[in-house]
Amino acid sequence: MFNTNIYIDADEKKVNEINAFSEDYKAFLGNAKIERQAVKEVVKLAKEKGFKDLSDATTIKAGDKLYKVNKNKNVILFVVGKKPITSGLRILGAHIDSPRLDLKMQPLYEDNGFTLLDTHYYGGIKKYQWVTTPLSIIGVIYKKNGEKLEVSIGEDENDPVFGIGDLLIHLASSQMSKEASKVVEGEDLDVTFSSRRSKDKDVKEYIVDLLKEKYDITLDDFISAELEVVPSMKPRDYGIDRSMIAGYGHDDKVCAYPSVRAILDMKIVEYTSCVILTDKEEIGSVGATGAHSQFFENSVAELLIKSNDNNYYSLKQALENSKMLSCDVTGALDPLYSSASDKKNASYFNKGISFEKYTGARGKSQANDSNAEYISFIRKVMDENNIYYQFAELGKVDKGGGGTIAYILAKYNMDVIDAGVPVLNMHAPMEIIAKADLYEAYLAYKAFLNS
Ligand code: MN
Ligand code: MN
Repeated sequence: MFNTNIYIDADEKKVNEINAFSEDYKAFLGNAKIERQAVKEVVKLAKEKGFKDLSDATTIKAGDKLYKVNKNKNVILFVVGKKPITSGLRILGAHIDSPRLDLKMQPLYEDNGFTLLDTHYYGGIKKYQWVTTPLSIIGVIYKKNGEKLEVSIGEDENDPVFGIGDLLIHLASSQMSKEASKVVEGEDLDVTFSSRRSKDKDVKEYIVDLLKEKYDITLDDFISAELEVVPSMKPRDYGIDRSMIAGYGHDDKVCAYPSVRAILDMKIVEYTSCVILTDKEEIGSVGATGAHSQFFENSVAELLIKSNDNNYYSLKQALENSKMLSCDVTGALDPLYSSASDKKNASYFNKGISFEKYTGARGKSQANDSNAEYISFIRKVMDENNIYYQFAELGKVDKGGGGTIAYILAKYNMDVIDAGVPVLNMHAPMEIIAKADLYEAYLAYKAFLNS
């Protein structure tokens, strides 16, 4: 169903399915604000459906369900198909990192009766959006002896929250005349941490002792920590008709979650199904856990070798013969800023999954420009399965642009196209999606894995 509003002909059964799936997604999103949490939640869901660790498998046969975790921040899932792996995989690729503020390695300082935590922002943000909003700190601290401390403060309603201050309007006349990128500067995104002192300890000594007492950590332990500052809000229904979901981190958990649910439903497949959930997309897919890492290729090699195929060329064939959906969000047309979009080539809420032939900026630069032949295949799969879908691009020409992991996997010479859920307020502390589009993405991903 191309370019059609889902609710025009959704019956009661479909509406119930949309709402039930959305409840599951909200629970996931609330527990998966950062990539380490997302990996943990996905592995839990996969194990419940009988998935086993690929590292523990000795031989592999059709029907096997497998997962493999990379450094706790990146995970891959497989359902082995009836056809040889060399005939290619059906791949869904999404990312599980989201824009946020990371604590610096030596974050704590004292200033005028407060302690504060210094941050370095991660990904593309409008910095002024991150002040005066409740924030949580989530992540890990590894002590020098290797002991791991999991941190999550601000998520439980009985927890304290954190925040970043902003200048009162009464004194802000010079701030208010600055351009938006300078109103709040990156080095000023510092988290208020404490204000109490005692008779014999100043505010910093007081907090250092408290950290030692309560968590048995020293300031040096922050060096071997990854602590992420994220909005405290829980995912909630949005709009009087409850047709949308407000939450932090829809980009890209709103595509990661339906991808996972799609592969968990796979039983007998012709082509081996694969879901890869990557980290570091928001900073260029770099590093050992990003899409540029060899982890994906190594995992496919492991799959081949454990199914008794040691031929190096088999790996190349498996990759080249694969088809992939790069499952990442796109910007929906915003009624307040509709002039930023070309209305006939924009993504709309409630019209289902949005395919993008290309992303990029300044004349499609850095885009994976998907082949017409492959798009023809995609249209057929969607229509045969009665999926609601749209084709769009992000914004008007030269308004800006963005990228996804599509071009990275395409270098194996596989067919790739972007296919995701439209989002409003992308990269803001509160992003919005439409429930119907989320559910349709799940149906589309299933149809693709079965194609
Ligand atoms: Mn994204
Ligand atoms: Mn993004």
